[in-house]
Amino acid sequence: MKTTRRDFIKISSMGVGGLALSASPVLGWVPGFLKIDDVIPDDSKVKRTPTYCEICFWKCAGWTYTDEKGKILKIVGNDDDQHSNGRFCPRGTGGVGMYNDEDRLKTPLIREEKDGKQYFREASWDEALDLISKRLTEIGEEYTRECIALFTHGSGGKFLGNVLKAFGSGSISAPSYAQCKGPREVAFIATYGKGLSSPEPTDIRNTRCLVLIGSHIGENMHNGQVQEMSEAIDNGATIITVDPRYSTAASKSKYWLPIKPATDIALLLAWMNVIIKEELYDKEYIEKYTFGFEQLKNHVKNKTPEWAYGITTIKPDVIRKTAREMAGAAPAAIVHPGRHTTWYGDDTQRLRAVAVLNALLGSWGRKGGFYMSEKLHLKNMNTPEYPKMKHTWRDAHPGKYMLADLALASGICDATIPSVDRECSYKAWIVNGSNLLTTIPNRKNTIEAINNLEFMVVIDTMPAEITGYADVVLPECTYLERYDMLRTSKHRKPSVALRMPAVEPKYNSKPDWWIAKQLAEKLGLGDYVPYNDITELLDWQLKQIGSSLEEMQKIGVKNIDREYNDLYILQGEEHEFNTNTGKIELYATSFQQEGFDPLPNYTAHPEPLPGFYRLNYGRAPMHTFGRTTNNPNLTDLMDENKLWVNPKVAKEWDLSNNQEVWLENQDGVVSTFPIKVRITERIGKHSVYLVHGFGRFDKRLKRSYGKGLDDSELITNVMVDPIMGGTGMRGNFVTFITEDPKLKLVGNKARKRNKSGNSAKINNKQA
Ligand code: SF4
Repeated sequence: MKTTRRDFIKISSMGVGGLALSASPVLGWVPGFLKIDDVIPDDSKVKRTPTYCEICFWKCAGWTYTDEKGKILKIVGNDDDQHSNGRFCPRGTGGVGMYNDEDRLKTPLIREEKDGKQYFREASWDEALDLISKRLTEIGEEYTRECIALFTHGSGGKFLGNVLKAFGSGSISAPSYAQCKGPREVAFIATYGKGLSSPEPTDIRNTRCLVLIGSHIGENMHNGQVQEMSEAIDNGATIITVDPRYSTAASKSKYWLPIKPATDIALLLAWMNVIIKEELYDKEYIEKYTFGFEQLKNHVKNKTPEWAYGITTIKPDVIRKTAREMAGAAPAAIVHPGRHTTWYGDDTQRLRAVAVLNALLGSWGRKGGFYMSEKLHLKNMNTPEYPKMKHTWRDAHPGKYMLADLALASGICDATIPSVDRECSYKAWIVNGSNLLTTIPNRKNTIEAINNLEFMVVIDTMPAEITGYADVVLPECTYLERYDMLRTSKHRKPSVALRMPAVEPKYNSKPDWWIAKQLAEKLGLGDYVPYNDITELLDWQLKQIGSSLEEMQKIGVKNIDREYNDLYILQGEEHEFNTNTGKIELYATSFQQEGFDPLPNYTAHPEPLPGFYRLNYGRAPMHTFGRTTNNPNLTDLMDENKLWVNPKVAKEWDLSNNQEVWLENQDGVVSTFPIKVRITERIGKHSVYLVHGFGRFDKRLKRSYGKGLDDSELITNVMVDPIMGGTGMRGNFVTFITEDPKLKLVGNKARKRNKSGNSAKINNKQA
């Protein structure tokens, strides 16, 4: 990698001197879902502290148990919590590994340069925050404050976001939007007038038919959803899984449809064709609540199962049978919208097809379909108004992505690279808990953006690759060591959950709320943080809803009864949707207004050339991508990823199980590390598959460095969704290299030819 003024610094070599890890073996690790009563030691000196998990976005509320010496014994679910139902998933129970990880960031670091060599030196909090305040002020004066952006992931980002808004910039983004769930949010807003958010309001426990299209419940381990799916199966629900891979969900399904990758919209249209042609749709629901049925009917009239067979390879009788099965269960039927939805660049249209199909089934607002979730809205203490901003991230992309309802992390990244088309580019980033080098595709582009920055602060618990490019690194303490905002995410009942420290922060780490408050004061924005300690804010907010910090410290979670009996839309009830027509829009008028197809269409996507395979990636139940692949508890369960290869492909290439291969993509990018082959019928012959988050390249991540392969470095072909800017990442193709490319074998010598003689090179234009 070419070095620049912002050389990558292997950060973890710093700050270890006086900060050795105290020996603290992890107790109470029990893989699998835990009930609160399962393994609690019978010890009156054991203390329990409320928390909500930060290992993934599901934010299950639970209890952290500590012994009399303050050692964490275990973390389990809170019985009153709707997200967890009293049980944590394997990753959540392993959360203590995040606290114990000896590779954690330990003290603030400042980039220095001496004799042309860049390095990090340890700094005090005061010095680091002074420098941040000074540089942000200088950059704001030289350019504009609006050229400072925050990338954030996780609970603490809200505090930093408020400070940035008070400072004068609203460019706050999270890769979990344009790189993940954005397309489905925009599609559901266009159709139903509201997005799905997290957790999705899918009434899986009451469903009679669950359709999963590329959604890996069981491997994604979204806690409540997995539990509800298991309940639904016990109650006899039909599961239909559409996936080129025989996933865990497929193994629980009545129907597994191993679809040809990139053809999902064709299948969705054919299902609509059957349901409309055979009049299996919910006529009363369509009549009363929807707009555009006739246009839809006309649109799908030729999209027959026979038409779709030629595209998807799913037989017409299977398409008909599965359409009838879901219609037979309707309205207690869910075509699940999934979560990681950025695949091929037409993802908003694919999710529109999912939304429309659900409407035909009459499942929106219905028991066993989608329930109407409710959120508790907390008051905030009085603060001055935020300054009015003249520009937003949108100004960097005039006329584009008009239907995006949140800022695009990739859009801000692109707008950091100077261009003649823009007056100003972003000049400073604050990056909170987001390893942008793996979360935003096209790493070369991200590094180019970073090299154009004048200043970058990274706040994290771990030395992720992004930290090596920072000017200042701030060590955040883990969720087990801090208070945070109250969790009020929506669910069947509105609720509130408390996170509080179970243990003192290790090393010299601090919570985000404290970092944000100190920074605000140094920037002269103290009025925007009108409390001395976060406990004052939490207690004040809780008192507004008739509770208190003292009460929440005892109970952890409080559910509040809904004011109205409106969990579902009742048969025949009047209901207005927040769309242009006040109806569920089968025909999306908002898309039409912006010049996009108001009805979803199938378009063909590039296929791999001979010798190449579509790079498919996903997740494992014991990891949350790169966030956990160094976690000592979770690496015990899975410490590397493997490459799923179909037996026919393996034979063609003479590959054997556990053989190490490197991958080369269509643009000639070769993986840094090899990956072991796993030969399995569970993957079709057009694709290979691996779990995302491995193959880390920071040597100081001792357990995860070089373990397995990082798919994100091979994602160089990014198909941007014109509707909302989502970055489609599944149009990358790879071939195998069976000898170490670092050995001085030149060019193709290192690349093994398959038995057909294909040397596995690809025309980029075709890819
Ligand atoms: S699903 Fe698992 S990892 Fe995610 S918040 Fe819940 S317990 Fe934690």
